[in-house]
Amino acid sequence: MINCPHCQQQIENDSKWCRFCGKAVDSKVRWFFRSPSLIVGFLVVGPFILPAIWFHPTMKRITKLILTAVVLILTYVLTKYTIEALKTIVSYYGTALGI
Ligand SMILES: [Zn+2]
Repeated sequence: MINCPHCQQQIENDSKWCRFCGKAVDSKVRWFFRSPSLIVGFLVVGPFILPAIWFHPTMKRITKLILTAVVLILTYVLTKYTIEALKTIVSYYGTALGI
């Protein structure tokens, strides 16, 4: 038996999850699976960060589903506004140049 690093409850030695608080016990998560890496990764490569979320070793399934939905929605919204901004720029300069 070991102590959960989060809630200090007694849990099995080989458990990956604490059955009391639900958090991951294994702290040896590789750098590209850590939250800051995932956030920066999304900002840099957008939806291409999804495999890192899907293959995350300790993240719960529901968390993966929610994060996937958030990434897809943000990608859709940001793409839509980028296209709108480009259309505005094109129409502005088109008017200004008399095209
Ligand atoms: Zn715990």
